[in-house]
Amino acid sequence: MVSEQKNKLDFTKSTYKSFLGELQKRGYFFASLESYLKNEHSKVFSSTHPNSIIRHDVDRLPQNSLKLAQIENSFGIKGTYYFRVVPESYDLEIMQKIANLGHEIGYHYEDVDLVFRKIKDKRQKIKKDELIDLAYESFCKHLETFRKNYDIKTICMHGSPRAKYDNKIIWEKYNYKELGLIGEPYYDIDFNEFAYFTDTGRRWNGNNVSVRDKVKSKYDFNFKTTQQIIDNIDQLPDKVMFTIHPERWHDNPLLWTKELIFQNIKNVVKRVMIKNKDKSKKIKVV
Ligand SMILES: [Zn+2]
Repeated sequence: MVSEQKNKLDFTKSTYKSFLGELQKRGYFFASLESYLKNEHSKVFSSTHPNSIIRHDVDRLPQNSLKLAQIENSFGIKGTYYFRVVPESYDLEIMQKIANLGHEIGYHYEDVDLVFRKIKDKRQKIKKDELIDLAYESFCKHLETFRKNYDIKTICMHGSPRAKYDNKIIWEKYNYKELGLIGEPYYDIDFNEFAYFTDTGRRWNGNNVSVRDKVKSKYDFNFKTTQQIIDNIDQLPDKVMFTIHPERWHDNPLLWTKELIFQNIKNVVKRVMIKNKDKSKKIKVV
């Protein structure tokens, strides 16, 4: 079971290709979140067939997402790409190219954080209930912006690791399904059915460095590298969801090293943040 470390760099396009190839060899069928929830592939997406949902959080560098979308397309794979509304992610030209490859486009929302930052800049105080109302208004506005070009059916929260509030608090009061949306992975996927793997923190076992990208699941795998997942692929259950941050996956050695260093520093900062959060449990909303 010990992972045999191949002489290959992780989080590169070639590693991504072998990862997809091995998943396909293991028999996984890939669906976007929308088609999974609509049960569009029920014939193949059954309990006896291994299924995989590949979700991409386009936090920044959208052109990297296009490269992964093209690789997936060459394998006949369709996934979901969640774009943020901020300029470092929102790129209509790239979105269109990705949509043309048959992938789903979704909204990677962070409206609680966006609204809160505006209020903080004006040094105003806000009650949580009011913050939720404003965030919902902002969410609806941004959803409409996306819907000018795409029939958005699923959404997914952006973790906003440095933010004080979880972007999902909107749904304590409002229901996205009333907006014609059919799913949000953190609510509509049963993670006791799907094993969940995220490359948050540039590793696959980043639970202790992830501020919000966590799920409650009966599965408890501890794979750090992509090669470890590949080596233990037979242990994976028949349903898995992978979250990929495409900005982390590239072959440019300079950018690759920059990302490695950047993520390692970020992981240290996030670990401290999680520790402090656990210690103080400060109430940040008045
Ligand atoms: Zn994100």
